[in-house]
Amino acid sequence: MLAALAKLLSALRAYIAYFFRPRPIDQQKTEKPASSAPGYEREASCKLDVIIVGCGLSGLVAGYCLGKAGHRVTIVEAAETLGEIGAGLQVGPNLSRLLIRWGLREKLDTLAVQPESISFRRYDNGERIGMDIYGAKIEKEYGVPHYQAHRADLHQMLCDIALPLVDLKLNSRVVSVSPDPPTPYVILQSGEVVYGDVIIGGDGVKSVVRTCLVDGPDSPTPTGDAAFRATISTEGFENDPDLKELLDHPECTIWMGPNQHAVGYNLRGNKIFNLVMLHPDTESTESWSAPGDVSEMYKLYEGWDPRLRKMQAKVTSVLKSRLMVRQPLKTWVHSSGRAALMGDACHPMLPYRGQGAAMAIEDAAVLGNLLSRITEKSQIPAILKAYESLRYDRATAAQLTSHSLRYVFHHPDGTEQQARDAAMRQAMELTLKEARGEEIPREAYGNNPNAWIDKAKKDMILNYDADQAVEDWWKEHGASIIP
Ligand SMILES: Cc1cc2nc3c(=O)[nH]c(=O)nc-3n(C[C@H](O)[C@H](O)[C@H](O)COP(=O)(O)OP(=O)(O)OC[C@H]3O[C@@H](n4cnc5c(N)ncnc54)[C@H](O)[C@@H]3O)c2cc1C
Repeated sequence: MLAALAKLLSALRAYIAYFFRPRPIDQQKTEKPASSAPGYEREASCKLDVIIVGCGLSGLVAGYCLGKAGHRVTIVEAAETLGEIGAGLQVGPNLSRLLIRWGLREKLDTLAVQPESISFRRYDNGERIGMDIYGAKIEKEYGVPHYQAHRADLHQMLCDIALPLVDLKLNSRVVSVSPDPPTPYVILQSGEVVYGDVIIGGDGVKSVVRTCLVDGPDSPTPTGDAAFRATISTEGFENDPDLKELLDHPECTIWMGPNQHAVGYNLRGNKIFNLVMLHPDTESTESWSAPGDVSEMYKLYEGWDPRLRKMQAKVTSVLKSRLMVRQPLKTWVHSSGRAALMGDACHPMLPYRGQGAAMAIEDAAVLGNLLSRITEKSQIPAILKAYESLRYDRATAAQLTSHSLRYVFHHPDGTEQQARDAAMRQAMELTLKEARGEEIPREAYGNNPNAWIDKAKKDMILNYDADQAVEDWWKEHGASIIP
C-alpha cells in the first residue's frame, strides 16, 4: 500500500516537473546558421521536445539539424566537460559533403589534412603493395575532398554550429530510459528526470539507450585484437629524409603484417602524426581512454618498417582499447515508436574501414532531415521507421565490411599473403596507368582485397548524400506519412 502511494507520488512529482520544466532553448535561439542543403531550409510546423543522449559526433549533428528545424533539443552528456579527446578520424566525401554544406569547409581546410593517397605497405620494409590516389582526384570525382581530422577538432566544429541551437546538460549520465508515450523520459544519475516527445540514443558503443531497445544484456565478442592509439608531433620530420616524405606527400599508410597491422596518417595541418596499431590481445578493456604500455607497443612491432619504428620511438604515451564485435541489431527503433538509436549505439564499427564517424553523422543528418518535415506528433513512429529503413542496410554493410578487413590485413607471410599482394599490385598498376591518362574500365578493378580501389563499392560509400537520400525517399514514400 505504502509502496503504491510512493509510486503515485513520484509519478505526480514527475508530471509536475515536466509541465513546469525550464525551457531555456527558446531564449537561446536567436540566430540560425544558414544552410545551403538541397531543399533544406525548413522549419518543422510541429515543434517537438527532443532528448538526445550523448554529445558525441552524432549527438551534435542531430542537435544541429533538429535545432535548425525549430525543434526544442536537449542533449544530455555524461562527461563533465567537452574537451580535447580522441585522435584521428577519416572524413571521406560522404561526410565532408555534409560538413561543407554546414559551412565548415574553411575550418576543415585549415585544421585537417588532405592526403595524397592511401597506401598499403609491407610490414617489414615498407614496400608499397597497393594504393589509391586521393588529393585532387577525389574532389574531381566526388565534388568534395577527403580529409583526415582530429576528433577533437571535428567535435569542436560541430559544437560551434550545434550548441547555439540546443540546451546541453553536461555531467548528466543517463541511467534509465522510458520511451513509452505519452511522455517518454530519461532518468539521470543525479535522479533528475528529463522529458521529451522522442528520445535519440547517440550514446556510443556502450549505449544505455540500446539496452532499452534490445532484449537481454549487450554481449560483444572479442575479436582477439586490441588497438594502441598514439599521436606524435611531426617537429623534426623535415630533417629526416625518411620522415620528411610523410610531410611532403601526406598519405594514409596501412602496414600489413602477420596477425597485426598499423595505420598512420597526418593531422592538424601536418603538425601531428596519428598512429593506430592493431595487434593480438586478450587482456585489455574496451575503452577510449584506458592507458597502454609504451614499451609493450614498441616491442610488438620489432622488425617492422624503419619509418614506423622511428615514429614509434617518439611515442611517450599510448591508449589501449580492446576491439569487440557486436552483431547488427534487429531494429534501431523501440516498439513504442518514440526512441531510436544512431551511430555507434546501433552499429559500432571496428576501425578497419574508417567509416565509423561518417556513418554516425549520416544517421544524424537523415534523422534531422526527416524530422524537419513533421506536421503532427502522431507521425513520430512512422518517421523513426523511415529513418531506420533509409539507414539500416547501408550502415550494417559498413559494419560488417569493417570486420572482414581484419583478415585481409593480417595474413602471415605465405600463400594467402602472396595472393593478396599480387591482386593489390595488379590494381595499383591500373590506378597508376589511369593517373597517367589511360582509359581503364571500371570493372577492371574487380573484387580486389584493396577494398578502397573497387569502384562500385567506393562510389556506393563516397557518393552518398544523406540529404539527397531523404529527398528521394520522401518523393516516393512521404505521402504514407503525411498524406
Ligand atoms: C572519448 C572518445 C574518444 C574517441 N576517440 C576516437 C578516436 O581517436 N578515433 C576514432 O576513430 N574514434 C574515436 N571515438 C569514437 C568516434 O567518435 C565514434 O566511433 C564515431 O564518431 C561515432 O560517434 P557517436 O556519436 O556514435 O559516438 P561517440 O562519438 O562515441 O559519442 C558518444 C557520446 O555519448 C556519451 N555517453 C555515453 N554514455 C552516456 C550516457 N549513459 N549518458 C549520457 N551520455 C553518454 C559519451 O560520453 C560520448 O560523448 C571516440 C569516442 C569517444 C567517446
